[in-house]
Amino acid sequence: MSDIRQRDRIDIGAAQGAPLVDSFLRRISYLRLSVTDRCDLRCTYCMPERMTFLPKREVLSLEELYDLACGFIARGVTKIRVTGGEPLVRRDIVDLFAALGRKIGDGLEELTLTTNATQLAEHADALAKAGVRRVNVSLDTIDRETFAQLSRRDALPQVLEGIAAAKAAGLKVKLNAVALKDTNEDELPALIAWAHGQGHDVTLIEVMPLGDVEEERLDQYLPLDQVRSALSQRWTLTESAHRTGGPARYVDVAETGGRLGFITPHTDNFCEGCNRIRVTATGQLYPCLGGGERVDLRAALRSEAPQEELARAFDQAMLIKPEQHHFRMDRRGADPALARHMSMTGG
Ligand code: SAM
Ligand code: SF4
Repeated sequence: MSDIRQRDRIDIGAAQGAPLVDSFLRRISYLRLSVTDRCDLRCTYCMPERMTFLPKREVLSLEELYDLACGFIARGVTKIRVTGGEPLVRRDIVDLFAALGRKIGDGLEELTLTTNATQLAEHADALAKAGVRRVNVSLDTIDRETFAQLSRRDALPQVLEGIAAAKAAGLKVKLNAVALKDTNEDELPALIAWAHGQGHDVTLIEVMPLGDVEEERLDQYLPLDQVRSALSQRWTLTESAHRTGGPARYVDVAETGGRLGFITPHTDNFCEGCNRIRVTATGQLYPCLGGGERVDLRAALRSEAPQEELARAFDQAMLIKPEQHHFRMDRRGADPALARHMSMTGG
């Protein structure tokens, strides 16, 4: 694929507009951009083994993704996290990173990604060269067998190689782990100790009822207050003032010398300070991960007057962003709170 900037296209980013502020006066500055719904793993809490993926024609081209990102930057988005599905399985994805990397210092302050790291070893240097400084790697266990059971693929060695390559390329790695009842529950201390030993912070996440995954959600759900209290029997946890602008709350772990975050959508609502929006690989803007509200940016982008239509769509998204999510984890056998999987909106 050629240099994305060289192509002859509409210049969405040239249309400056008012900063994005929702109806609860929250300033939106953080975009999570999903570049594919496909993935090379099948994490049991994320998708079923036989997942139906979108036909490729429905997915935005890399040029369209770039145009959209520029449109958001023109409206005051300063941080973009590329996600998926697994972003690194998309062909030529490093071209998008390279193009977006050139916007750093020109409106964009930070370009990052969330990855399962199976292909990170191959791409770490190119990502660093593009201007990526930090990556979030999803890793729920460092036990090979549990990893294979959890992700339905025996890929832990590649993942560890990917993490090592990222570190060698100078990328700061943060690990995210979904805490799952009976599955990785007993292995979380080993994961945290290993990560802190490698110099990586870890954030634990409660499972969310997104999409049908062929397993009972309530059997997966492990409240993080339980995890925290078990960890505090083992280690000295001290509240930390550290914040990343996201929903995580942190503690310092005295014995490992590392930092541990908790994201608790169920036990603690964190929506008040939400500064983010999400766009799927088909260009659907979801102003809330936990809501069904959406605006079709692909239609706007492919319309006769893309600049005007996109501006209108962005404004509409600000009007419909809900005050808070409505996840519930209190009913056995309930349908998923939302039919779409996390791999659509990228977590
Ligand atoms: N494939 C990449 C990865 O795994 O990092 C990026 C996309 S993945 C959907 C983003 C994040 O969502 C991962 O950290 C994953 O663990 C998390 N996730 C997926 N399904 C989830 C669910 N139902 N509840 C909570 N987190 C979930
Ligand atoms: Fe793939 Fe990430 Fe979902 Fe796991 S969590 S199946 S790696 S998209």
